[in-house]
Amino acid sequence: MNTDYPLWMEIHSQHLHENYTRLRQSLAHSGHTQIIGVVKAEAYGHGLECVRLLQGWGLDRFGVASVQEGEALRQFGITGKIYLLGGFIDEEVQGIFRNNLIPALSSQYEWEQLESAAGQLKQSIDFHLKIDTGMGRMGFLPAELDSFFLNQITHHPYLNLKGIMTHFASSENDPVYTQMQFELFQKTLNRFTEITGTSINSLEKHCCNSAGFLFFPTYHEDLVRLGIAMFGVSPTHDPKVVYQQGLQPVMQIKSRVKHLKDLPSGYCIGYGGTYITQRSTRVAIIPIGYAQGLLRCLSNRMEVLIRGRRAKNLGIISMDQMMVDVTDIPGVIRGDVATILGPDGSDEIRAEQIATWAGTIPHEILCSFVRIKNRIIV
Ligand SMILES: *Cc1c(COP(=O)(O)O)cnc(C)c1O
Repeated sequence: MNTDYPLWMEIHSQHLHENYTRLRQSLAHSGHTQIIGVVKAEAYGHGLECVRLLQGWGLDRFGVASVQEGEALRQFGITGKIYLLGGFIDEEVQGIFRNNLIPALSSQYEWEQLESAAGQLKQSIDFHLKIDTGMGRMGFLPAELDSFFLNQITHHPYLNLKGIMTHFASSENDPVYTQMQFELFQKTLNRFTEITGTSINSLEKHCCNSAGFLFFPTYHEDLVRLGIAMFGVSPTHDPKVVYQQGLQPVMQIKSRVKHLKDLPSGYCIGYGGTYITQRSTRVAIIPIGYAQGLLRCLSNRMEVLIRGRRAKNLGIISMDQMMVDVTDIPGVIRGDVATILGPDGSDEIRAEQIATWAGTIPHEILCSFVRIKNRIIV
């Protein structure tokens, strides 16, 4: 056990390794599908060290949201392909070339920006074409792709079209909409081939995020863009989805009991007095709050594990601390470990459950813990 910090994040590198191995195994049947490890937001709050670990095990494709994130990966020693999934602003164009990022192109304007930078720098780069099939975010609408433009981007001296992608809006809960998106993607790919005469086999096609990968095995194509599943967490509120695949959570959050007190019945706890004790209550104070990523909306809903037992949060979560009920947990002492995320004994708090308590998705829970800077790789 760590004893130096009042609050820390454990990165279970063995789980990350097993997850990566299992994901690769489950793709082996298709023979050719490769993984893009999506590591935006500092690897979903886990920290960039995880990216270095993945690279060490052979992963050589990563996805980021911004040029800044791509640059941070390069500075961190990541040498593989880095896909810039989230577009760029004009001032970032040079950074794409400097860091050898693979942008996903969303507009003719972006194309002109890349083309002029390539001409100035006399430097070539690879790029992918992004199609908006129903997400309403980045990407070309299929109708925006006229034949003049498509022919222009397939035959360029500096800019090499290497792939075509789309992104699902609801692959975790809407198979009808997802199928509509996939079919529009295929239709657009066919039109691309007819117009340009380019064989679609020479391009990398990809559309699946974690939910697409888990729920639509026939949609995997050449690349799958895996974020949350690689970190062992479900893209839905149901952990079974990843558990059944043998994927295990990589992140655990632990803290220590900093103070204990016995309060009489009828005593108000926390800002606003939102909780009033119904009995003599033994309260433990834990040094984690919303400044450390524990969403304030979890107040009076969430539980932590102490001595393998559940302790309910009482009152509003403060900036740096929270109170929990340990009345029914015998023997709690100052310094005991409080598990915010992860297993203790036979019980476990999962990110999916915290997301359910908070009324959000597990992605947001993982990302919010990026604020915990005491990271220990175990
Ligand atoms: C974030 C992201 C992903 C990964 O999503 P997960 O649900 O975490 O697997 C895939 N593709 C794109 C374009 C993304 O922005």
